[in-house]
Amino acid sequence: MEEDNKGLDLSLSLSSELSSPPQQPPPPPPPFAAAQQIVRRRSKASEGKDPHVPAAFVWATTHRAKVHSLEYLISNDIHKITGDVECKQCQGQFVVEYDLRTKFIEIGLFICSKKNNMHQRAPKQWLNPQLLDCKICQQKQCVKPVILKEKKSINWLFLLLGQMLGCCTLEQLKYFCEHTDNHRTGAKNRVLYLTYIGLCKQLDPMGPFDP
Ligand SMILES: [Zn+2]
Repeated sequence: MEEDNKGLDLSLSLSSELSSPPQQPPPPPPPFAAAQQIVRRRSKASEGKDPHVPAAFVWATTHRAKVHSLEYLISNDIHKITGDVECKQCQGQFVVEYDLRTKFIEIGLFICSKKNNMHQRAPKQWLNPQLLDCKICQQKQCVKPVILKEKKSINWLFLLLGQMLGCCTLEQLKYFCEHTDNHRTGAKNRVLYLTYIGLCKQLDPMGPFDP
């Protein structure tokens, strides 16, 4: 385990550890067996089984769908979270920046005040996020986040802070839940709720963010 993960929930780290394939001493395999091993490893990777990936952002860890804790980020002087967005009208792309602490407090307070009435389902404003205004063509509410097809490169923290996780497909949200040991079945409002709560828990493991 890398030291960066000390702020993360120990049970998550532990279960990721357990789900890793056991390290076997490498016997000198005949060429055919070696090739088979490579194929097996490749197909595992394409199924998304390997929990380790290169960190796509300084605020992301090397675990799929896991970001660093708020404590880690602040102590490493990471205060601004950026992401790419695209206008549906003019197709222009630009970068949006969020203040980590301000936005997280906003979301945390919203969750604390509404959680009991959510019944583990995402509210309407999470399901249908209000899109941003375009600073290129000046049209209103037409700018959506760029969400990469490569799921391991999704900018989860940016989507959380902008409350734009609802722009993800059900499949992308299920990917998040799959790699963070959450239930991953159900309708979009259920999986989206778990994604919001799960990301908040990653940022603030001691916070009131249990499903
Ligand atoms: Zn535009």
